Amino acid sequence: MAHGTFNVPYPINEPVLSYAPGTPEREALQAAYQTMYNQPPIEVPMYLGAARVTTDDKRAMTPPHEHGKVLGHFSYGTEAHVTQAIDAALEARKSWANLGWEHRAAVFLKAADLIAVPYRAKINAATMLSQGKNCFQAEIDAACEFADFLRFNAYFAQEIHAQQPESADGIWNRLEYRPLEGFVFAITPFNFTAISGNLPAVAALMGNVVVWKPSDTQVYSAQVIMEIFQEAGLPDGVINMVTCDGPVAGNVVFKHREFAGLHFTGSTGVFRHLWKTIGENLEMYRSYPRIVGETGGKDFVVAHPSANVSAVVTGLIRGAFEFQGQKCSAASRAYMPASLWPAIKAEMQAELATLRMGSPEDFGNFINAVIDRRAFDKIKGYIDYANAASDAEVIAGGGCDDSVGYFVEPTVIETSNPHFKSMVEEIFGPVLTVYVYDDSTENAFADVLDLVDSTSEYALTGAVFSQDRYALDLAAKKLENAAGNFYLNDKPTGAVVGQQPFGGARGSGTNDKAGSYLNLLRWVSPRTIKEALVSPTDYRYPFLG
Ligand code: NAD
Repeated sequence: MAHGTFNVPYPINEPVLSYAPGTPEREALQAAYQTMYNQPPIEVPMYLGAARVTTDDKRAMTPPHEHGKVLGHFSYGTEAHVTQAIDAALEARKSWANLGWEHRAAVFLKAADLIAVPYRAKINAATMLSQGKNCFQAEIDAACEFADFLRFNAYFAQEIHAQQPESADGIWNRLEYRPLEGFVFAITPFNFTAISGNLPAVAALMGNVVVWKPSDTQVYSAQVIMEIFQEAGLPDGVINMVTCDGPVAGNVVFKHREFAGLHFTGSTGVFRHLWKTIGENLEMYRSYPRIVGETGGKDFVVAHPSANVSAVVTGLIRGAFEFQGQKCSAASRAYMPASLWPAIKAEMQAELATLRMGSPEDFGNFINAVIDRRAFDKIKGYIDYANAASDAEVIAGGGCDDSVGYFVEPTVIETSNPHFKSMVEEIFGPVLTVYVYDDSTENAFADVLDLVDSTSEYALTGAVFSQDRYALDLAAKKLENAAGNFYLNDKPTGAVVGQQPFGGARGSGTNDKAGSYLNLLRWVSPRTIKEALVSPTDYRYPFLG
């Protein structure tokens, strides 16, 4: 029991290091990369309570930029392993849920400090190797965003606990923020190490126990996350990492009486399927499960005729092609005014020609490989489709080479059809489609905003470039529901924890805003306690007299 009201250290965003030539962080990261690349293949177990479990069903872990290189193997589990993970979680709940929140916070604050210093190079190198990020993309994700999530969440938890109701004379009202009754299932995507760590951690911070299933293509860095949590003192069983086929895990979890919540980030189709399954099994559960899902996007960039050309070009290149467009927030459809398009097109083509592509081992490479064969084939399919179409033209990139790694050049498609396939569907790769609108009429900009709002089922991120304040105001109003994260004169990617709470609506998710107190509220079930300090002793009210 706590003998005090405690203040979590005020969180400050972890500084992004430069990795410029000659810096100590560059040297440390290159050394960590070489060590991990050259060491004998590692074996990643499942973390099921105190047990470290391997099976005979081994899956190879290979860098996206070099699919012939085996970094190690992880074990595929069965339904029995998922059951073991749930049992371990429910056993751990007896102690963890009763631990003072300041102790839970301390574990994750320690994990943040481990990430920031002793594990920084290792978790960044693991992210470069397993997800194919360049050093900067790894740094802003695995080191900075992950540490930020853990530190800001601890601070938000304190603020939530401090929210207490009023009390009238003679009574004391209190609100307790209880963890959910049961266990939380966290399912994470390949593309952000920080998201993978945060989804189980934020639920655990609020007193929940978790079964966590990472993506098959992120297990190599997921294992570093578990190593850090262990070193930070997270008790066994609080977060159980099970590696198996998604439906195998779902088949056990979604039929379990103690299933209390789903914390999902991934594609829209998978999330819809999981929600339906939960709905079908509703009578099986003790409580109504919390369902939190952050899903796909078809993120837009709109330029007004008053926009600054170089600002638009930079926003498009960074927004569409960093991490090969494999960000849920990546710009993938652009609406450019005909009056500016020749200048934007020329500058963009010239800049794209300077981007180098290759392994993240070479720090001069801006572009690296896409995650796996399935992604490569899917992305190439969209490029092939554009090459064959009569209403579209590939105006930059388009080359694909999977001989060593899964490399796709940053590709720009120009289309005369605002509903062209690649203007509408999420591709999740380095492909940007541009529609040029006629801006010679008075209502042209307003009309294109209506088009942006109605073209896609998603509403995650979007950006508008303009130097005209009335145009920005019009765009903010007309696109009110088109994006959960809306950018003015900046690229639509790169949300920072504590600064731009992240999430979208419509087909893009439940918009529970990772990196804000709003997300933490989904993992507690408040109990109101009313205590009469002076209890009434006579049933008769004055009016009866
Ligand atoms: P994905 O949907 O293929 O996989 C996500 C996770 O779900 C993986 O762990 C996968 O194994 C699991 N899964 C798949 N089918 C399952 C099933 N039937 N039952 C249980 N689990 C199942 O997504 P991905 O390719 O890893 O990530 C890319 C997607 O994630 C994109 O659509 C992207 O927009 C989205 N994303 C969204 C956000 C956001 O904040 N909105 C952030 C990152 C990624």
